[in-house]
Amino acid sequence: MKQPICPNCKREFKYREVLFVNRSKICPSCKMELFPTPASRKKQGFLLFVILTFVLSVRLLLDLNPGLYLLISTGALIIILLGVPFITAFTREEKPMFRR
Ligand SMILES: [Zn+2]
Repeated sequence: MKQPICPNCKREFKYREVLFVNRSKICPSCKMELFPTPASRKKQGFLLFVILTFVLSVRLLLDLNPGLYLLISTGALIIILLGVPFITAFTREEKPMFRR
């Protein structure tokens, strides 16, 4: 697994700098505005989908007490947050997610 790098100055982003990326991110080194690539956004969506499916199946298939279920849901959310920096890649331009 690798951390994302700035496509302009090749600076490697620190893990915590990529934890919360909304629409764009300013490179701390060259101050360029960077956007997550459509591919990395798709991967994030896929990760979210897998985790949500997992959490819902656990709820449907197992008869857990609410406390344990809450614990599993929280754990799943943490996995998403921790995994995002490794699947994020940046590009200089904002590209549409789907081509027409
Ligand atoms: Zn940079």
